[in-house]
Amino acid sequence: MTDGSESQYGWIGLGNMGGPMTGNLVDAGHSVRGFDLDHRSLGDAQQRGVTPVTGIPEALEGADVVFTMLPAGQQVREVFAGEGGIFEHASQDTLLIDSSTVDFETSRWCHREAEARGLRFVDAPVSGGISGAEAATLTFMVGGRPENVEQALPFIEPMAGNTFPAGGPSAGIAAKLANNMMLGISIMAAAEGSQLAERLGLDPKVFWDIVSVSSGQSWAQKTWYPVPGIVESAAANNNYDATFRADLALKDLTLATQAGREADLSLTAAELATSQLQALADEGLGHKDCTLITKYVSPEGEAPGYTAEHDVADAA
Ligand code: NAD
Repeated sequence: MTDGSESQYGWIGLGNMGGPMTGNLVDAGHSVRGFDLDHRSLGDAQQRGVTPVTGIPEALEGADVVFTMLPAGQQVREVFAGEGGIFEHASQDTLLIDSSTVDFETSRWCHREAEARGLRFVDAPVSGGISGAEAATLTFMVGGRPENVEQALPFIEPMAGNTFPAGGPSAGIAAKLANNMMLGISIMAAAEGSQLAERLGLDPKVFWDIVSVSSGQSWAQKTWYPVPGIVESAAANNNYDATFRADLALKDLTLATQAGREADLSLTAAELATSQLQALADEGLGHKDCTLITKYVSPEGEAPGYTAEHDVADAA
């Protein structure tokens, strides 16, 4: 593998992320046997050069490594410990890597259960979204025993822009949850700061320039400023069509606040950001961009650049 030779990958979960990630492995010259419950996802992956298989045991056949890229902890537990699952069929020669975003306890459970069976497991969640998956520029945060992390790195490399060995078991998921929690809070700061500046009569571009070199700056402010025409990469330019869906941000913040409660912490700001994302989901706007929480700042419930979709349809 490190010498550039072909590896045999097994892959479970060929959705929005798993599909393009496996395509990049094929493009890098590796063989991938992929499984997904959804036939369309399986067909799409086949178009990318993945060999579709009918179950987890077939995906594991001859695999140097198996990746799981599943919606959440529940599916990860099923795929690992369910009947006909990974724990039942994996050989000790196969390295197990979960790149799903899961709750901290599920990640700990994966490490414990794998180790009890003499299997090697690594948690390796990602950030970078679907565009990063397509472009093979994902950031991987990797946790596990040092020797297992070391072995995982070359298998991750064809899909990654950055890879960080984060520490011991579940350090990858810990980094992912803490990072995304900070992102959720800084989205709120950008939403409220941008609106206050506007109400106090500031030109948005002048204010953005000031903040960008001042203490209020953040990645969210620099990349996703929720006012149209200021930052090219902001969803505000496109009626808040998702760059990062509100329901995915809600999932990550929910997992982070859950981990915080289990760690006996008071994560007040994160709880508040979670409740705003939940409000978007409750309004049926979970598919829109997470920066649309800006609409909760004004009493009118309006965000700059946002027109509710039913209004657009009515106008047409
Ligand atoms: P997705 O829902 O598009 O894909 C998940 C796939 O898993 C689906 O195709 C589903 O059919 C399949 N699946 C579910 N249960 C299964 C089972 N028991 N056996 C086999 N296949 C099964 O989700 P996604 O957007 O690809 O995200 C995958 C993971 O990556 C999630 O944990 C998500 O939080 C994380 N993530 C997503 C993004 C993003 O922008 N989409 C970014 C970073 C991390």
